[in-house]
Amino acid sequence: MSKPKIGFIGLGIMGRPMSKHLLNAGYELVVHDLNREAVAEIVSAGATEAHSCKEVGKNSSIVITMVPDSPDVEAAVLGEDGLLEGVSDGDIHVDMSTIAPSVAVSVGEALIQKGVKCLDAPVSGGDVGAQNATLSIMVGGEEDTFETVKPIFEVMGKCILCGPLGAGQTVKACNQVLVAVTIAGVSEALTLGAKAGVDPLKIVQVLGGGLARCGILENRGERMVNGDFDPGFRIRLHYKDLNIIMKTGNDFNVPLPVTSVVHELFNTAMAGGRSELDHSGLLTVIEDLAGIQARTT
Ligand code: NAD
Repeated sequence: MSKPKIGFIGLGIMGRPMSKHLLNAGYELVVHDLNREAVAEIVSAGATEAHSCKEVGKNSSIVITMVPDSPDVEAAVLGEDGLLEGVSDGDIHVDMSTIAPSVAVSVGEALIQKGVKCLDAPVSGGDVGAQNATLSIMVGGEEDTFETVKPIFEVMGKCILCGPLGAGQTVKACNQVLVAVTIAGVSEALTLGAKAGVDPLKIVQVLGGGLARCGILENRGERMVNGDFDPGFRIRLHYKDLNIIMKTGNDFNVPLPVTSVVHELFNTAMAGGRSELDHSGLLTVIEDLAGIQARTT
């Protein structure tokens, strides 16, 4: 069977490497982004440019969106010259952005009315996972649509069908609770150790081998104590996810006491002009509270 033509909207930190993997796997790609430089890079790697989301929809049968937030997905799909105007019956839309579960469902409903099949498929694994094609992809939607798209997901990582449309975003919210709380915990541990006179690099090295080992220590620990907060996953995007999480907790009447404190720490980072740092830059907020820097010597 010939490979479907894929549309890809959103060529940022994540979308760029993900779309390149699809090109390398032999898929024909039609791409669009508001940033012309990002488009030029993927076009020079073999993709075709579309000038709107509508044009992407017209020229492909499976469309992936990978944009920052719920309003961006709404603009790309439901806005003027949006995907909804270009798609036809039988096409598939896969939103891989991290957005509110309720928006995944409402945007999906508009597309489903036009005969389009929809999956929400947010990812975990960060920029490194996108570059190495080792993303963990959490999918919501119908099983037959999932099976159709599975070979495409497997070019970018590993996928699991978690439930109906919106379930992928719910699982991603759970993921972001754990990551945010872990970053805050690692930041407090490093700052405590450093102020008590221990080289924080030693803390990263030794804790990484015990029960406290975790993805944050493994992927970010050394960079944190070197003061390297280049993104990666930006603080503003994790703050966006925490807003989604707190609203979802409210919607389902699930108190999230620990997450709410970490939400405020991210809010502090945003207010302090640190929105573009990697989310591990939350360390700088904890450092400010303690009045020292937890840097390796
Ligand atoms: P990014 O800001 O680097 O890239 C987003 C891209 O979308 C930009 O190039 C922007 O121009 C484009 N865009 C926005 N609105 C658009 C529109 N209407 N039409 C066309 N293009 C549009 O963001 P990112 O880091 O690549 O993250 C994308 C999504 O993936 C977010 O939802 C984020 O939460 C999620 N995510 C990111 C990471 C990470 O480590 N960066 C990890 C997991 C999940």
